Amino acid sequence: MRIVVLGAGLAGVTTAWRLVQDGHEVTLIDRAARVADAASETNGGIVSASRAFPWASPQMHKTFMRALTRNDQAVRVMLLRWDPAFWAWGLRFLAACRPERYAEILDRKVRFVRYAQEELALLAAESGVQFHRRQEGVLYLYRSAAALEAGDRKLDPMRRLGFEFRVLDRAALLRAEPSLAASADKLAGAVLSVSDESGESGLFCRELAALAQVRGLMVRTGCEVRRIDVEGSRVTGVHTSTGRIVADAYVCALGVIAPQLARQLGADLPIYPVRGYSATVPMQRPERAPTRAGIDETRLIAWCPMGDRLRITGGAEFAGWGRKSRLADYTRLFDLAEDLFPGLIDRVRGPVNSALSVCQRPMTPESTPLFGTGRYENLWFNVGLGHMGWTMAAGAARITADLIAGRYPAILLDGLRIKAR
Ligand SMILES: Cc1cc2nc3c(=O)[nH]c(=O)nc-3n(C[C@H](O)[C@H](O)[C@H](O)COP(=O)(O)OP(=O)(O)OC[C@H]3O[C@@H](n4cnc5c(N)ncnc54)[C@H](O)[C@@H]3O)c2cc1C
Repeated sequence: MRIVVLGAGLAGVTTAWRLVQDGHEVTLIDRAARVADAASETNGGIVSASRAFPWASPQMHKTFMRALTRNDQAVRVMLLRWDPAFWAWGLRFLAACRPERYAEILDRKVRFVRYAQEELALLAAESGVQFHRRQEGVLYLYRSAAALEAGDRKLDPMRRLGFEFRVLDRAALLRAEPSLAASADKLAGAVLSVSDESGESGLFCRELAALAQVRGLMVRTGCEVRRIDVEGSRVTGVHTSTGRIVADAYVCALGVIAPQLARQLGADLPIYPVRGYSATVPMQRPERAPTRAGIDETRLIAWCPMGDRLRITGGAEFAGWGRKSRLADYTRLFDLAEDLFPGLIDRVRGPVNSALSVCQRPMTPESTPLFGTGRYENLWFNVGLGHMGWTMAAGAARITADLIAGRYPAILLDGLRIKAR
C-alpha cells in the first residue's frame, strides 16, 4: 500500500519505520527543514515508564484551578481567558481529575507505557541506531526528608505494578551519583527508578529515518500540510506547500495540530499544546558530568547528559499555539544546572552557546494517546503523545502499524481509540 505519514516527529518516524518493515511504500512529510525539529528534538530525553502518572489527578484539580488565577505555579496559564479550545480542553481535563477516573486512566496508561518501553528496546536492538542511550536508571531528587518520604509513598501503586525503585539517602545518592557532591548539602536524597532510561530522541529519529530511507522510505521536509481532500468516507489527497500528494492511506502524526487543519480531519482531537523550555548546553567540565538523567522534584526541572552536552528542560505553560520566548524564560534551567552541578556549564556564556527552544507537548486531557480512524477509513491517527512521547513512541508506532495491517495490537486499546467527528 502507498502510505503518507504526516509529521516527522517521534510518532511519525517510528510509525514510518514500522510501515516500511511491513512492506508498504511510505512517504514521510514534515513542514520543518529536518526530521524531528519540534518537541521530539528538544524534550527531556527521559524514558520514564515508572512515572506514568497521568497529569489529571485529584491533586492536580486544585493546581489547575489555582493556575487560572496565579502565574507563580509549576503549571501556568497565560493569556488564554478567551480561547474556547483551552476551555473545552480544560473542562475535559477537570473531569479526568475525579478519583474514580484517575484509577482507570492510570491503569490504561501504565499498561501502554510498559509495552511501549519494551517496544523501544526492540526497536533500538533491531535498528542498531545510536542515541546516547543510558540504562542505569533515572534519579528523582528531593530536597527535604518529608518530600522524599512523600515521593516514595507516591510510588506504591507503581511498586504494586512491578516497577523497581531504590530509595537513596544522601550518602547513598552520592555513591550512586558522585557528580552531585558539590550540592549534596541541599539534598535529602533521591529515588532511583531502576528501569527508567534516557537518550537523545531527536538523534534517534534522524538515525532511524536515515536507515529507513536506505530501505525505501521517502522523506519530504519543508512540506507543510495545508488541507485534505475527501470523497465520502475516504481521504483522496493531501494539499501541501509543495503540491498535492495522493496515497492509499494516510497517518496523522502531527503532534500539536493547527486548529484549522484539525477541523478537517473528521475526528475528535482534544489535543492542546502545553509548552515547556529546553536548553542544550555544552559541558565545559565533562569530568563532572552526571552519569544518568534525573529530575529535581522540587523545582520540576530535568537534566539529561547527551554526549558532551547537557539537556535541561522544564515548565508547563498553557500559552496557545505561539512559540515565542525570551532569554529570561530559560534562567530557571541554567540556575538549576548551576545549583546541582556547579561549574559543569558556563553560567555566563552558556546561554549564548546553547540551543534554546520552546517545545509543545501534544496533551490530551487524560495524558494518553489516541489511535485508529475517525470519520475517514483510510486516515489513521497516532496523536496525543503528550508529556511522555519519547517513552511512548515505539509502542504507539507498533499499534498504528498493527491496526493498518488488520492485526490485533498486543495490548487492549480501551480508552485509546479516537472517535469520529
Ligand atoms: C519540555 C518538554 C520535555 C519533555 N520531556 C520528555 C521526556 O523526558 N520524556 C518523554 O517521554 N517525553 C517528553 N516530552 C514529550 C515528547 O517530547 C513529546 O510527546 C513528543 O515529542 C511528541 O512527538 P510527536 O511526534 O507526537 O510530535 P512532534 O515532535 O511535535 O512532531 C510533530 C511533527 O509534525 C510537524 N507538523 C505539524 N504540523 C504540520 C503541518 N501542517 N505540515 C507538516 N508538518 C507538520 C511538526 O513540524 C513536527 O515535526 C517532553 C516535551 C516537552 C515539551
